[in-house]
Amino acid sequence: MDTAKVLDVLNAIGAKIEEQKEYLTELDNVIGDGDHGINMARGFQMVETKLPTLADKDIGTILKTVGMTLVSTVGGSSGPLYGTAFMKAGMTMAGKTEMSLEDFIQCLDVAIEGVKMRGKAVQGEKTMLDAMIPALDAMKAALTPDAAPKTILEIGVGAAWEGVEYTKTIIATKGRASYVGERSIGHQDPGATSFSYILETISNCL
Ligand code: ADP
Ligand code: MG
Repeated sequence: MDTAKVLDVLNAIGAKIEEQKEYLTELDNVIGDGDHGINMARGFQMVETKLPTLADKDIGTILKTVGMTLVSTVGGSSGPLYGTAFMKAGMTMAGKTEMSLEDFIQCLDVAIEGVKMRGKAVQGEKTMLDAMIPALDAMKAALTPDAAPKTILEIGVGAAWEGVEYTKTIIATKGRASYVGERSIGHQDPGATSFSYILETISNCL
């Protein structure tokens, strides 16, 4: 993936989030405060306006800019969390103009560490981490020296959506959804859902 492709993928993510805005907000209505789709769409709309100015930048700078934009434009907790994720990925990609499959996996790895640190959450608390961590684990497990990126990404997407299903079975103990306690059972986590759409979009772009 070169710089132009990364910009295309970010545009596609923005379009996907816009398309799923209502749905993500509905999910957050049930166990949160009904703004996840609105938050994500606002953030990625601002990202889209910045992309044309980033055409001659390296991938690290692009991802860092995305992260900073999300932190500064998204009011909800998902802004700082996704923002940290993109900024951490940007640090890993500093100076690079090509992203390999191994780079991508490394980006997801440091993004997860960033989200964990920022949100003080672990796997199993009904957050975006419950889609992110299984996706990373599945991709790492499937990785072989001659693996096709699209195949590995598709495996990650499958694991992410399984993670979303898993969030229906557990009680939220972090974020706003923790306020509804047991009532959160049976409902999927909005952040795990948005992450799965993002990964799915990246996979579809390959
Ligand atoms: P807010 O909760 O502030 O309204 P959003 O609705 O945009 O923000 O985002 C909610 C999502 O953020 C949740 O569905 C969950 O996936 C994620 N989230 C919330 N708190 C945490 C946390 N401490 N760690 C990881 N993810 C979290
Ligand atoms: Mg919310």
